Amino acid sequence: MVRFDRVTKRYGPLTVLDRLDLELAPGEKVAIIGPSGSGKTTVLRALMTLERIDEGVIHVGGEPLTHMRRGDSLVRADQRHLRRMRGRVGMVFQHFNLFPHMSAVRNCMEAPVTVLGLGRDEARERAAGLLRMVGLGDKLDHYPAQLSGGQQQRVAIARALAMRPRVMLFDEVTSALDPELCGEVLAVIRALGDAHDLTMLMVTHQMGFAREFADRVCFFCDGRIAEQGSPQELFGAPKNERTRQFLSAVM
Ligand code: ATP
Repeated sequence: MVRFDRVTKRYGPLTVLDRLDLELAPGEKVAIIGPSGSGKTTVLRALMTLERIDEGVIHVGGEPLTHMRRGDSLVRADQRHLRRMRGRVGMVFQHFNLFPHMSAVRNCMEAPVTVLGLGRDEARERAAGLLRMVGLGDKLDHYPAQLSGGQQQRVAIARALAMRPRVMLFDEVTSALDPELCGEVLAVIRALGDAHDLTMLMVTHQMGFAREFADRVCFFCDGRIAEQGSPQELFGAPKNERTRQFLSAVM
């Protein structure tokens, strides 16, 4: 469903992703862990086309994300292709990024109406259904400031789902929350993973959640995957010295 082929991203002299190969099968749940600055968030931002990559190709659903095939070669994608491809990927950010002047339901309607061209009634119905699914059926008309951090993050999850993406990205979605609010957000993500065939990629500093959520955990170091495996393998018997050092520092 997602494939990075030798993807390199640089900021000036700094190489943030270094010929990265990464593949996610349809429905697979993958967690990315690793030290600060190792390129974890850049992977998600590249998938959202928020960062332009310097080399390599990213595929989503079998098609190149930012390029189009023309004959035997690849050319930079036009806006139409980019819009179509962006619709395949949804992202939830650490700081929720909700529209503060819109109610929960309006937050979830906005993109389906403006980007997908859905009618307002249909968009409202879809939004309300998703908000009910994340346990906020009684908060449809609340504004972000009237919601707890955990509730705001659940609105952000519903908002991303409203675009019916094939791939969901989660960037440290519980880091800004008090510990007691993390549980409700993680429970929603776990339920989504169980109930839907969504492919999910999560950057997290919470090893406990990575262990429970993921089919596979990738340890990033210097813009590459230094080690990957099932949670049991990676947390139980890490092979790479850098993984061992990292895990002993954070666990
Ligand atoms: P953290 O765990 O601290 O969030 P990370 O592994 O997610 O880190 P990234 O956010 O992907 O790391 O950043 C990788 C490197 O790229 C860092 O050294 C960061 O300072 C650098 N970087 C990120 N964005 C930019 C930018 N816009 N300009 C210059 N350097 C950047």
